[in-house]
Amino acid sequence: MIDGRRQTARLQRPKENRTLSTKETRLEQRLKLLVSQGGGDLFGMADLNSAREFITAQGGESLNRFPRAISLGMRLSDAIVNQHDPNEKNEDSLYRHHVYRVVTPALDFLAQRIYGELQAEGYEAFPVPASLPYDTEKLRGVFSHKLAAHLSGLGWIGKSCLLITPEFGPRVRFVTVLTDAPLSPGIPLNRKCGRCQACIVACPTKAFSGTEFRPEDPVETRFNTRACFEYRRTHPCGTCVAECPVGQSKESR
Ligand code: SF4
Ligand code: SF4
Repeated sequence: MIDGRRQTARLQRPKENRTLSTKETRLEQRLKLLVSQGGGDLFGMADLNSAREFITAQGGESLNRFPRAISLGMRLSDAIVNQHDPNEKNEDSLYRHHVYRVVTPALDFLAQRIYGELQAEGYEAFPVPASLPYDTEKLRGVFSHKLAAHLSGLGWIGKSCLLITPEFGPRVRFVTVLTDAPLSPGIPLNRKCGRCQACIVACPTKAFSGTEFRPEDPVETRFNTRACFEYRRTHPCGTCVAECPVGQSKESR
């Protein structure tokens, strides 16, 4: 949850230098309040112009007509991430239950509330589902929530291809609401993993090449998506989430 002092820290990301009208400022404040009241931990706004080609290639023209996105993040339970065991059965996994049956639906609900507020104000909006639909041939969804979160300034893309947030590392799930509302976008964080190799060493399928993210490189240069996907058909793996030192509490290190 976003509360008091921490709320201020998480919501004050650097933004583009654009003056908003009083109406726009009030809308942003209302949206942030909705997110905090609905159990969200991170809130950001993105300008999608720099990613238009990528968005069209992934989800088609119907998604590309929105110039901005709102990115919402919900933190995973540290206790559940820390005890996750990739060797147990998927159906027995508390980790899998937590990620897909608890946090993911909560994010969809949150996106629906944001969508409702934007629509009531007369703006177009599109709540992209937090998880499905997923193309098991191309191994991707209709839109990259990671892209929106990155462009919002909520984190950087690590060697694990996960979004690494300063507050929680990769222990966060995201959902996106596309919109034409005139919100003030954040500025992407320019950080890197540096010498860390924790996820690369720990991954049971050795799916990571260890290469730092560069937007111009195809994902294959960093990540064997198929190897991870096939392994996770039978294993509730979140090792790359659990092992990343960014966002780990002192107790779990
Ligand atoms: S989920 Fe598991 S198999 Fe997939 S990349 Fe992460 S550590 Fe590797
Ligand atoms: S474990 Fe290390 S290398 Fe992997 S994403 Fe986290 S910081 Fe980057």
